[in-house]
Amino acid sequence: MKDLLLDIRGLKKHFPAPGAFLSRGVGVIRAVDGVSLQVQRGETLGLVGESGCGKSTLARMILRLETPTAGQIRFDNEDILAWKGSALKAFRRKVQMIFQDPYSSLNPRQTAGGIIEEPLHIHHHPGGREEIKKKLREIASVVGLNEEQLTRYPHEFSGGQRQRIGIARALILKPRLVIADEPVSALDVSIRAQILNLLKRLQREFDLTYLFITHDLGVVRHMSDRIAVMYLGKIVELGGAEPICGAPVHPYTKALLSAVPSMDPLRKSERTVLSGEMPSPAAPPQGCAFHPRCPVRIGICEQRAPLLERDGAGHWVACHLSR
Ligand code: SF4
Repeated sequence: MKDLLLDIRGLKKHFPAPGAFLSRGVGVIRAVDGVSLQVQRGETLGLVGESGCGKSTLARMILRLETPTAGQIRFDNEDILAWKGSALKAFRRKVQMIFQDPYSSLNPRQTAGGIIEEPLHIHHHPGGREEIKKKLREIASVVGLNEEQLTRYPHEFSGGQRQRIGIARALILKPRLVIADEPVSALDVSIRAQILNLLKRLQREFDLTYLFITHDLGVVRHMSDRIAVMYLGKIVELGGAEPICGAPVHPYTKALLSAVPSMDPLRKSERTVLSGEMPSPAAPPQGCAFHPRCPVRIGICEQRAPLLERDGAGHWVACHLSR
């Protein structure tokens, strides 16, 4: 594919389960269990799933903060898992992260300006002090912070302004890929749309590619070109944002979508309430991992795991009923 930026194949991350050493290493937590995803240059891929489904572990592997148990990650057609030293450092300039909780991710003893310009110092930006200050003022203005605000400390800002600081810090190195991990879920509902619209505008201005991680299908629908739905370490549905949100196929996607309030007062939506919690990735159910909670399961679901299969329109689903 000509415009492929990120290409993930068969990625796995298995951790030893607590007590596994005592029980001779048999216990394994399958946090990510064979994920393949491609992200095109300039697109937003939304990655959706409940807390604990493995989406943050997947992000940490892309950032090279976790070493995969198996699989490949290629960035711009290069194998990033082979990189060390200066090649790895150069890669880290190109991939930046926006965090969920802007307050805990900002150093309370640094001013906003110091926080935003810090990546330039870490990566030894060749410009002198004046050039760094110029870059700082430019990026602050782009995200809607003024010069006076750059002298203040994180506790002096609202949640939305703190997220603007986090976004400016992520963008000052002009990355190619931005991984946004629940970037608005800690914010007031009234502020969320402002930050989402800011992220969309910055994507156009800076030619960014986003991997947008969230548990909220309503948020990701607004942001994404394509959506991947993850359950217990695996992708269960993948396709364009409109087909996924307009005509979801997988029962899990349908349940997530039914929890999103409709903007159309005339549209009646029936809420599908899933029974129970997501099972532990240390003891995934036999067959389809979703079957204990699935409202439409059939006999085979308890015995055989469905494969992630593609229909003619490029929509991927892992469900025995989708054939
Ligand atoms: Fe439900 Fe069976 Fe489809 Fe799994 S394979 S989602 S249990 S119908």
